[in-house]
Amino acid sequence: TPVPDYLAEVADACASSTGGELASYIPELTRVDPRYFGLAMATVDGSIYSVGDGDVEFTMQSISKAFVYGLAIRERGLAAVLEKVDVEPSGDPYDELSFEASTGRPRNPMINAGAITAHTLVGRDGIDAGERFDLIHRLLCDLAGRELGVDEEVWQSEVHTSDRNLAIAHMLRSKGLITDPAEEVISAYSRQCAVLVTARDLAVMAATLANGGVQPVTGKRVFSGEQVRQLLSVMLTCGMYDSAGDWVSTVGIPAKSGVGGGIIGSLPGQLGISTFSPRLDQHGNSVRGIETFERLSADMGLHLMEVA
Ligand code: GLU
Repeated sequence: TPVPDYLAEVADACASSTGGELASYIPELTRVDPRYFGLAMATVDGSIYSVGDGDVEFTMQSISKAFVYGLAIRERGLAAVLEKVDVEPSGDPYDELSFEASTGRPRNPMINAGAITAHTLVGRDGIDAGERFDLIHRLLCDLAGRELGVDEEVWQSEVHTSDRNLAIAHMLRSKGLITDPAEEVISAYSRQCAVLVTARDLAVMAATLANGGVQPVTGKRVFSGEQVRQLLSVMLTCGMYDSAGDWVSTVGIPAKSGVGGGIIGSLPGQLGISTFSPRLDQHGNSVRGIETFERLSADMGLHLMEVA
């Protein structure tokens, strides 16, 4: 079967799934059409396939965390980043104030405490929050291979309801892990989460990781091979919130989800895959996205632990 036909078949098979609820803690996210369903795949040689609502824009949310962690490593070096953020799965919800007992570091860069810390490691010390956002935005555009917009409403909506992230930022400040004012950090971090992408964009971004850091369409090197290895390792162990173990056993590829309804998966050396379906399970992962990935993984034998 040609790839587009196969993807359309998978999308059809998963279309009837309507479980889960829209994310509501960012009020603006409840205005998204819950019926959206996009699926896209990009290969390391730059072929892109997308079906359904694969060209509809939505906010990246936590998917940005993976790429920004990579950027922090690119700018500061792995050792400096590890001093501030560990790489142990927490098993806790994404917004838990989860810190390692012995060192006080956030447990990993995929939960908010670690993601906010990684965000502040982008750019030289003393950079202002707007400049830092610009560096992050540039990275995301390089990965997508096009200029990405920002959903200003979702951004403002999150800024106005960010007590919990502000609490996390204040904790980080009290531990000396970040030094900038909490309000500025959370505003720029929320803007990072509100960057608009399509499933097609995300598939190419994931394919850049699968391709060892070289964007497969533009040919631009965004990350080194070593940086990608670190990033994919953390996605594999911590990318799916507190259901990371379940994901690894059933789907078996590094992935990251966001409460905007997106999921990316990256199969090293081969593929980037992305789904967009806004109804979420209790962990914050897209219900139909998970079903789609499970099906793709089984059909195509994507699971990394599969012995041929
Ligand atoms: N902007 C959201 C937050 O930090 C992202 C959460 C997510 O996608 O899990 O709360």
